[in-house]
Amino acid sequence: MIGYMYDSDFSLHDTGEHIENKIRTESIDEMIQEKHNIFQIPTRVGDKEELSAVHDSGYVDWIESGYEKGISQIASADTIVSSESYAVALKAATSTKNVIQAFKDGKIKRAFLNLRPPGHHAEIITGQGFCIFNNIALMARYAQDAGYQKVLIIDFDVHHGNGTQDIFYDDKSVFFISFHEENNYPYFVGGKEEIGKGEGSGFTKNIPYKDEIKDAEFLALFDELPRDFDFDIVLVSAGYDLMSGELISSANISFEALGEMVEKILEYAKDKPIAFLLEGGYEIDSLVKSVDITLEKMR
Ligand SMILES: [Zn+2]
Repeated sequence: MIGYMYDSDFSLHDTGEHIENKIRTESIDEMIQEKHNIFQIPTRVGDKEELSAVHDSGYVDWIESGYEKGISQIASADTIVSSESYAVALKAATSTKNVIQAFKDGKIKRAFLNLRPPGHHAEIITGQGFCIFNNIALMARYAQDAGYQKVLIIDFDVHHGNGTQDIFYDDKSVFFISFHEENNYPYFVGGKEEIGKGEGSGFTKNIPYKDEIKDAEFLALFDELPRDFDFDIVLVSAGYDLMSGELISSANISFEALGEMVEKILEYAKDKPIAFLLEGGYEIDSLVKSVDITLEKMR
């Protein structure tokens, strides 16, 4: 059985007509409840201090009080903040702890987290790219607190996971590997030469690809998953905006190739716990089908 996390409160992060909106997670949930055998993991509201494991506390305070002070957008105006956004983002990020606990208790081996807002663009001192707090980074820290010392993060969202890279850049206990389209958001970051720094040197790996990449070539990139990092848990930034037909990318990956990619990742993780966290994916039909394929492969 697959561990699954979703909360209807995620819809309270009100972004209006923005492409990152509640229809995404609601549609995914509808499909999953109807088609898949899942073990529902409850959400929680953690203390905001927990966020300081990955974020600057000044930034967290600013988001907490931001809406009341009249802030309705952050970063380059692409990230909307509504009255409930802080509470929802806090819930999404800190609830990941319950999934770690479910792994620890032996209740599940694999999980899918249908979270909003997404997280992988959120850096230590700022959110951006539709992301407020970095869900996967906080989950990695909770995993370490629970005894999963070495964490591997695989990011297949079509955009570079700059936030996750920023948080773990000098950390050798978290290996971050990102597969992304070059010359796309967030720009000027995610190059091959960025490999980490200090103790973390060699523990960041970027695999940028051209937008005209074909399925076979794309799948071959996953042979680059690290072979000498003895991980205890695998966390996946699952962004489905690499699929054909997405407006904010030019990548053209087929559903068949997506399924093969998920299989490759699952095989790679072997018997270690693995969780997929929703990041991007904005064409609703394609997004729902992609998540469906992911869960089929995870069974
Ligand atoms: Zn993306």
